[in-house]
Amino acid sequence: MKILIIGQGIAGTMLAHILERAGVQVVVAEANLPGRSSEVAAGIVNPVTGKRFVKSWRLDDFFLVAQYHYRALESLLGISVWEERPILRLLATPEEKNDWATRCAQTDYTEYMGERPNAGAWAPFLKPGFHIGVIHKAARVNFPTLLHAFREKARINGQLIDTPIQYGDIETLLGEYDRVVFCEGYRASENPYFPNLPWQLAKGEALLIRFQDSRANQVHDMLKKTSLIAPLGDGLFWAGGSYQWHYPDLDPSLGERDYILQRLGEMLQAPFEVVGHVAGVRPSVKDRRPFLGESQVLSRVYIFNGLGTKGALLAPFWAEHLADHLLKGTPLDTTVAVGR
Ligand SMILES: Cc1cc2nc3c(=O)[nH]c(=O)nc-3n(C[C@H](O)[C@H](O)[C@H](O)COP(=O)(O)OP(=O)(O)OC[C@H]3O[C@@H](n4cnc5c(N)ncnc54)[C@H](O)[C@@H]3O)c2cc1C
Repeated sequence: MKILIIGQGIAGTMLAHILERAGVQVVVAEANLPGRSSEVAAGIVNPVTGKRFVKSWRLDDFFLVAQYHYRALESLLGISVWEERPILRLLATPEEKNDWATRCAQTDYTEYMGERPNAGAWAPFLKPGFHIGVIHKAARVNFPTLLHAFREKARINGQLIDTPIQYGDIETLLGEYDRVVFCEGYRASENPYFPNLPWQLAKGEALLIRFQDSRANQVHDMLKKTSLIAPLGDGLFWAGGSYQWHYPDLDPSLGERDYILQRLGEMLQAPFEVVGHVAGVRPSVKDRRPFLGESQVLSRVYIFNGLGTKGALLAPFWAEHLADHLLKGTPLDTTVAVGR
């Protein structure tokens, strides 16, 4: 079987990887289009999210599959991209501390949540007075390194098209490929083969920051309050992100930069320098579930999208699910089927 995957963000990368392992001939098209999401994302897998500290949807299933496939990609490509690290959760108010303690006492949360007496290597950088919660079994996937290494492999093997694929070319391409799978991120909202899907796209921005204090090199844990800060190595940190449901363009904006700086100011007392500012659009869906399946407009055309805010955790499990559907005809789970 020969499959063309359009878009090589985390969705397209993971699907291509799983299909290739199953012996499929895969070609990926990736044109580095503005607003792409994986390139700017922190790539965090955060098991416990939201103001009420709730475990992510089907976390236990998804985490193991994610760990398995990211490690397989590390071996295949000779890179290191999957880092399991805790997230320190800064708790400020008595209500937050109370809610956190209540969750920690629940048996299905004990392996994911706990408390720390202090912030460890983060301590010199933080404002005083926080109570420190800790989220275990968290991870960060270095998306840019993974995507670039996978793309380079595809290029060397002659499996990469690096120009944009036009919707008008799909019928012709179906003469060459058995299946075409769109993994085009937020651009899917304009795809004529999958019209009227309930998208709720969310532009997001993030800053890259560097502390003046060299002790920042010893910080390895991630940190979260209203913003998240993740160490990237060499004293560089990812900090963000913001959410905009209405936006005039795809560029980083001064308004969001100020918003993120204000959030960082609530957490940090140590001075830092902003060395980068990025923006992308999350392919989010109203019911927060991915889209998988075949087009009703043109057969043999598929979609794998809607990973929203959680591409790092969701992509491996659902790519495997779609691959089984494409290769073995396994029915799609109705919660993610595109026609739901
Ligand atoms: C600021 C920010 C922070 C985030 N942080 C996290 C996080 O910590 N953890 C997490 O799990 N998720 C995070 N996300 C969400 C995450 O980025 C998405 O869930 C995920 O990356 C979506 O991947 P994707 O492959 O579906 O889309 P994309 O990454 O957008 O990939 C789509 C690709 O398709 C290409 N493309 C589109 N059309 C064509 C065409 N016609 N021809 C050729 N190429 C095409 C584009 O160039 C693009 O590279 C964050 C997002 C943002 C914006």
